[in-house]
Amino acid sequence: MSRADAIAAARRHVTDGHFASELARRVAIPSESPREDSGADHRRYLEDEMRPWLESMGFSCRILENPSIDRLPALFAERHEGDDLPTVLTYGHGDVLWGMAGDWDEGLDPWKLVERDGRLYGRGTVDNKGQHAINLAALSAVLEARGRLGFNVKVIIEMGEESGSPGLQELAETHRDLLSADVLIASDGPRIGADRPTVFLGARGSLNFHLICECREGAHHSGNWGGVLTNPGIRLAHALATLTDANGRIQIDAWRPPSIPENVRAALDQLAFEPGPNDPQLNPDWGEPGLQGPAQVMGFSSFEVLAFLCGRPEAPVNAVPGWARATCQLRYVVGVDGEQILPALREHLDAHGFSDIKVERMKRGFFSATRTDPDNDWVRLVRASVEETTGKPVSLLPNLGGSLPNEVFAETLGMPTVWVPHSHPACSQHAPNEHMLASVAEEGMAMMAGVWWDIGERRA
Ligand SMILES: [Zn+2]
Repeated sequence: MSRADAIAAARRHVTDGHFASELARRVAIPSESPREDSGADHRRYLEDEMRPWLESMGFSCRILENPSIDRLPALFAERHEGDDLPTVLTYGHGDVLWGMAGDWDEGLDPWKLVERDGRLYGRGTVDNKGQHAINLAALSAVLEARGRLGFNVKVIIEMGEESGSPGLQELAETHRDLLSADVLIASDGPRIGADRPTVFLGARGSLNFHLICECREGAHHSGNWGGVLTNPGIRLAHALATLTDANGRIQIDAWRPPSIPENVRAALDQLAFEPGPNDPQLNPDWGEPGLQGPAQVMGFSSFEVLAFLCGRPEAPVNAVPGWARATCQLRYVVGVDGEQILPALREHLDAHGFSDIKVERMKRGFFSATRTDPDNDWVRLVRASVEETTGKPVSLLPNLGGSLPNEVFAETLGMPTVWVPHSHPACSQHAPNEHMLASVAEEGMAMMAGVWWDIGERRA
């Protein structure tokens, strides 16, 4: 059997309804990781759905208990064909966010897969049950076509991604050898457009923090005290105004990448930012001068004031407030040292006369910036393979504008990371009416069968 046969079989798996009927069973398991009593559902997903399927493909499986939260175990599976063959690690998460039953459109239910108008509705269809189902079903198609894969595969499926992947980092540190591989090839998140095969290689980092100006306890009548008491809102506004210029250009050197690598810039310049009819108008003068659209969002850092609180906005009174607080976020790219972001901020504030402004790092919301070199051999292989299979150019994102815990793979396990998303921007992930497009499922299945086939051909 040939590459084309394996791809045709993979496509058939979607068009003949097998993919939807398998996914329906998995969607029916309400594996909401934020729910305290969800432990049995997570084990059911791994033990009743993933394990038998993987074992039927010749994988040996074991549960990795979560060192951080008991109810969120992970499944590790391995199919070893030869010591001299390359090893691919693939990843998925079987947990979902809240089902939000009752908020879905008429006739839809988070735990019941419904196919309607070329869409497969159900919680987890795109995030992420449907995506790892595609990758593993494509693997099965290649295995059947060729009798072997021609490479080794390791699989990790965690059940805590929607709760911030608790324990995943520790698991990676404890099981470094078990999880070691030549490359991570996995799927999560959306394509850049529904009909555009997309590959992304990392993510921007992100750090959230509060800036606080605390002058005194409580507020004081502005008729009696206004003029002799410092206003914390004004102090904080002036401090914030030193962080960027009036058009959002970041003023702290340590927050800015020293440069955008040439091949990263070239990849970004090939992407178009295409706002839909309901998206906001872009502000071309905002941010780093000379950068537009994708180069701005994925190639550079951006600073946001997420919230600014002073006094009682809901019912202002004539008083000098006692304190003011801004909740801030820096998203940053490779080239910015995540550990230097807050020390550099402290130094900057002190140098500008704002030693009274406190910096408080938020507990959640820290991600490292990661980006595999666009010229890495594995990236070239996947890209060429997908282009051959689909006949379409691949949209190559050096990194996402958003964040994801890719550092577990890119840094802790130290492997190149190649993500091939099978969702689309309007998929309603995390909201009612989550759905996968049948057309993307079919194309994704074909793409992945092609990728697995080509790795087995040792085209790397
Ligand atoms: Zn999610």
